[in-house]
Amino acid sequence: MANIKRPNGTEDILPSASRDWQVLERMLRETADVYGFREIRVPTFEQTDLFCRSVGETTDVVQKEMYTVTAKESTFTLRPEGTAGTIRAMLQNGLLNEALPQRVYYILSCFRHERPQAGRLREFHQFGVEMAGSPHASADAEVISLAKNIIDMLGIKGIQLYINSIGCPTCRKAYHKALQDYFAASKDQLCETCLSRLEKNPMRILDCKSPICGEIAKDAPVILDYLCDDCSTHFEQLKKHLAQLSIDYQVNPKIVRGLDYYTKTVFEFVTTDIGAQGTVCGGGRYDGLIGQLGGPETPALGFGMGLERLLLTLRNQGVTLSEPDSCDLYIAPMGEAAAEKAFAMTAVLRREGIAAQTDVMGRSLRAQMKYADKMNAKFTLVLGDNEIAEGTADVKNMQSGDKSKVRLDDAFAEDFSAILLDSLFSTGEGLEALMK
Ligand code: ATP
Ligand code: MG
Repeated sequence: MANIKRPNGTEDILPSASRDWQVLERMLRETADVYGFREIRVPTFEQTDLFCRSVGETTDVVQKEMYTVTAKESTFTLRPEGTAGTIRAMLQNGLLNEALPQRVYYILSCFRHERPQAGRLREFHQFGVEMAGSPHASADAEVISLAKNIIDMLGIKGIQLYINSIGCPTCRKAYHKALQDYFAASKDQLCETCLSRLEKNPMRILDCKSPICGEIAKDAPVILDYLCDDCSTHFEQLKKHLAQLSIDYQVNPKIVRGLDYYTKTVFEFVTTDIGAQGTVCGGGRYDGLIGQLGGPETPALGFGMGLERLLLTLRNQGVTLSEPDSCDLYIAPMGEAAAEKAFAMTAVLRREGIAAQTDVMGRSLRAQMKYADKMNAKFTLVLGDNEIAEGTADVKNMQSGDKSKVRLDDAFAEDFSAILLDSLFSTGEGLEALMK
């Protein structure tokens, strides 16, 4: 029987890559903390209706990409994004009754049945933030600045920030009419999905992935020409705040975002270094969503950052996040008595927080040293009958080749790590070198 393979569009994150993920995630958490965002963890699946009502019935995500499962007569959907579940959780747990604005962040996986390609997976990971309670453009600038800060701290170069305003229901009435008039002329060339969008939600046509619809939409009217006074002022204020923060941006009236809940500000951070799927972060304001989900009318906004795309950008730009794996000390025993001693020593060292390893394969000394080398051991210690008889052994610094003697005396066994560290100090290596 053939071996079972992972599903299309999913990835295994192997030990050789998981360090980068850990460094990235740590950095995301620390930066979110600095901005006053606190972590929220929500379920992997939600009632299907939650996504239909928030992401929107006419979006690609809801129409084509959701993983919906029926179990014991109930229907659920694997989350295609993080905002809907987060807002649901904030409402259900009364977070909006606490001090506003509420700032939360999450790191989670999302599921979308899309065509897998570079930067587009069926299970992918997002870092996202949501901020609820403020209608002011300063909040938009704050959220954008958090995303920008993360990108800068990671050392990613050449990312462009695009901003746009897609207005509110007031400005959209006239805009929808203008779009319907514009697309009416090429009605028979639109794809089937867009044809139905023409009536219900013509703005969605601008986000269609079909090249024919894309071509037709090229000269479509832009929403910026239809903004009401309130939305227009908001957009001007956002630009002022971004300038204040010295954040470079370009206004791109074509950005409409793939989810229906956005109002006013939308933005994307785009790189040209990872091919066609270059949007590493997308977000915006969604002032109507909380009310739409049954909560009190509350202005809010947020973004989602694709972690695979971030890591891919870093890799393509030659930025490394983590050091190669290594162990602090490899103890290579020769013979049974030494093996027993080495076993006990590693246990003591590990309690002290030192990453110590010894043989569990019954290997020869030569083979053990080869393994220690593969493990990138910083120090090695060979333990044979002589060493046990004399109660001392050499610790070898694998990089410099320097050796220093440590005592193995039974009476000192408990203190071994302290002695080891001392001896490393005396060779000038020091505690830090060993613990790094
Ligand atoms: P795109 O235009 O790339 O399809 P989107 O508008 O569907 O993106 P959002 O729903 O706003 O994306 O998700 C936020 C971020 O999550 C995206 O900017 C991207 O970095 C990432 N992302 C979205 N879909 C995928 C996917 N299928 N695979 C990997 N990352 C994704
Ligand atoms: Mg998409």
